[in-house]
Amino acid sequence: MLSEFDLIKHYFRRARAGNAVLGIGDDCALLAPTPGMQTAISTDLLIEGRHFFAGADPRMLGHKCLAVNLSDLAAMGARPVGFTLALSLPGVDQDWLEEFSNGLFALSDLHDCELVGGDTTRGPLAVCITVFGEIAPGHALRRDAARAGHDIWISGTLGDARLALAGYWKELALAPDQLLEAAPRMHLPTPRVALGRALAALPVAHAALDISDGLIGDLQHILDASRVGATRNSTCCPPAPCWRASRRRCAAVSPLTGGDDYELCFTAPPAQRDAVIAAAVSANTPVTRVGTIDAEPGLRLVDAAGQPVEMDVKGWDHFGGE
Ligand code: ADP
Ligand code: MG
Repeated sequence: MLSEFDLIKHYFRRARAGNAVLGIGDDCALLAPTPGMQTAISTDLLIEGRHFFAGADPRMLGHKCLAVNLSDLAAMGARPVGFTLALSLPGVDQDWLEEFSNGLFALSDLHDCELVGGDTTRGPLAVCITVFGEIAPGHALRRDAARAGHDIWISGTLGDARLALAGYWKELALAPDQLLEAAPRMHLPTPRVALGRALAALPVAHAALDISDGLIGDLQHILDASRVGATRNSTCCPPAPCWRASRRRCAAVSPLTGGDDYELCFTAPPAQRDAVIAAAVSANTPVTRVGTIDAEPGLRLVDAAGQPVEMDVKGWDHFGGE
């Protein structure tokens, strides 16, 4: 049986040199921040049975645990630098650790985001990652930066992960190919790091967040922080292709209130539409304009003709929404 230290050395301490002044192995890691830059920090805790299924594929889990953290850096517009990993493991399963660390490092290498330390303990399976990123002062995409008259944009498509969950939970009877199409969006989300960084580089401040609990609920966070309201056009929010294929719908399952999308929702002045599109092209990430920020508080939904549409939905609330 591997000791805790052997386990760390074997699966998480890598031979190749990273950017950290001092990585895994001492009491603290040492990083050398780029002079003049601010540090963006975010933590996400994922617990078996709560945030991922018991018996989840370890490689995909390694990817997802880091992806949801990188998504927070993306939503701030920050460049990923490094992360720590706190692991609670029920036992030492070497096959599991091999797969988990492979999934984790494949994504960390893609973003040049180095594992610099962590903690390992025995207990119910849980993974807690803290990421560190860098952002130029004044360029962070803050939730309080939305202004009346600004456009509301989202990246990619919404609802795929929720559709997969509906398939697993049997809320909807999905065709096998539908589930096959939707499932990777749930298990292997793509953090929109390049888009976030391209938006943060634009000269005018924008508000942004990553959509983890459904667009409706998450957009409200921007509205609250910025003390504004919004009108969203119900027809221009792009559902994933597999949603369009789904003829059987149920009220509880909506691409707008689902969760686990990890797309960015951001705002920008109308004068910057071309700049936003150019940023999206440079990041190779599709974006769609879905509404407008209003001075009047509240979130309104209109159809293509501008007529109000009834909206009785909430994003996923971990304490009240189940
Ligand atoms: P301490 O006793 O100071 O908490 P540990 O014995 O827990 O230190 O960890 C030894 C070293 O291994 C530290 O540098 C720590 O950051 C690192 N480490 C522990 N667990 C992990 C992990 N899961 N991933 C990466 N590094 C880890
Ligand atoms: Mg420790």
